Amino acid sequence: MKYDVRSMKAEEFINDEEIRETVKYAEDHKDDTELIDSILEKAKERKGLSHREASVLLACTDKDKADEIYDLAEQIKKDFYGNRIVLFAPLYLSNYCVNGCLYCPYHLKNKHIVRKKLTQEEVAKEVIALQDMGHKRLAIESGEDPVNNPIEYILDCINTIYSIKHKNGAIRRVNVNIAATTVENYRKLHDAGIGTYILFQETYNKKNYEILHPTGPKHDYDYHTEAMDRAMEGGIDDVGVGVLFGLDNYAYEFAGLLMHAEHLEAVHGVGPHTISVPRVKHADDIDPSKFDNSLSDDMFCKIAACIRIAVPYTGMIISTRETAAVREKIIRLGVSQISGASRTSVGGYTEAERPHDTEQFDVSDDRTLDEVVNWLMTAGYIPSFCTACYREGRTGDRFMSLCKSGQIQNCCHPNALMTLKEFLTDYASEGTKRLGDEVIEREIHNIPKESVQQIVRERLVKIVNGERDFRF
Ligand code: SAM
Repeated sequence: MKYDVRSMKAEEFINDEEIRETVKYAEDHKDDTELIDSILEKAKERKGLSHREASVLLACTDKDKADEIYDLAEQIKKDFYGNRIVLFAPLYLSNYCVNGCLYCPYHLKNKHIVRKKLTQEEVAKEVIALQDMGHKRLAIESGEDPVNNPIEYILDCINTIYSIKHKNGAIRRVNVNIAATTVENYRKLHDAGIGTYILFQETYNKKNYEILHPTGPKHDYDYHTEAMDRAMEGGIDDVGVGVLFGLDNYAYEFAGLLMHAEHLEAVHGVGPHTISVPRVKHADDIDPSKFDNSLSDDMFCKIAACIRIAVPYTGMIISTRETAAVREKIIRLGVSQISGASRTSVGGYTEAERPHDTEQFDVSDDRTLDEVVNWLMTAGYIPSFCTACYREGRTGDRFMSLCKSGQIQNCCHPNALMTLKEFLTDYASEGTKRLGDEVIEREIHNIPKESVQQIVRERLVKIVNGERDFRF
């Protein structure tokens, strides 16, 4: 097997030998100041870095250079994503699963976890609960089970979710995180109007992947790794990749992740829309220390900073697997989307207390959405509930063009402010409302075009008077 970024074969575009050589090259050059400086100079052009270059930055041990990496990541985030943070929530549909993943409590052999699959009535109730918090964007999650959770069930759920309009609420974007599937099924998901198709690689190391997925359809590394190519063939422009950090060596995973992004860009002309950086967590019968590849919070943050520099136009997602403290640190370094007030159990949003019996993993940040919104604004961010891009046809390379053109500030910034105003008007506590109105007043001035500022002012009044869903 030879490394070939354009190959459609998993083991050629995610090539073990190339990854190992990359990790060794990075180790050998981690103190090579001249090389590190030249990579940082290249990174400042904001056109990204190769997996080898980025791996050297990840490996470098010099504290001053590391600070330069963090500063540059922060600056690139500001340039492309401003101070907006998009909010979403996961919605667990079913924990029936035929796979044997060693890190996930939904694995088939787990006989004591309560198995549950939402009916369409229950999906509707969950959606109403999520709308009543203020959510506009969901990521649906499900175990893999062709009998209990066939694609028709997932499509029914998507239809139900989009159809519920409770008070002023609406779910305007449904991202989908389900197991690798066929081109035909991806086409069905595309036609159902999904946002991003998300699939975590879990680990790029084939050998370890096969050990960690001993049974079930997910055992097939090639089928799993080639899923994003099939998704794109099925018409899905926006795909989200990710690694479950902690399963294998982080330097190996980091190189594999970037090689995957390079492959999608080389073959389809557009890289992943988002990269997620989950870390393996304690769950029902799962002990994360068993995997022996846990990484420190500092290294975790460095990975995020290096991803930000290597793929400046790709969104980055951090979930409630992380504590508020880690989220605060990592958001600054390049994260563009976070989940808030998440429940990782099937049917969890309609329960008064967070249920644990069907949870996929322990949540480390259990604040309410109002608290998360307030916290973000206090830290200088604009919480955004915007879903405009894909609804305006700005997917795939069209989104990337918007990002590259610098016009994002005339588009995403006003959309963030208008959707924040909707949240403040419909769902926020008094304190959050007060703070939010100050933030909006201050941030309107950061919209470059005065004509757009004027339109936003008019629309903010209309929102208070009951109109909804304005967007650029
Ligand atoms: N069943 C689908 C699949 O196999 O891709 C959907 C994904 S599952 C509902 C969502 C993700 O949760 C998985 O891809 C995995 O990375 C993550 N996950 C599983 N167990 C976890 C754990 N113990 N801690 C943290 N994340 C976990």
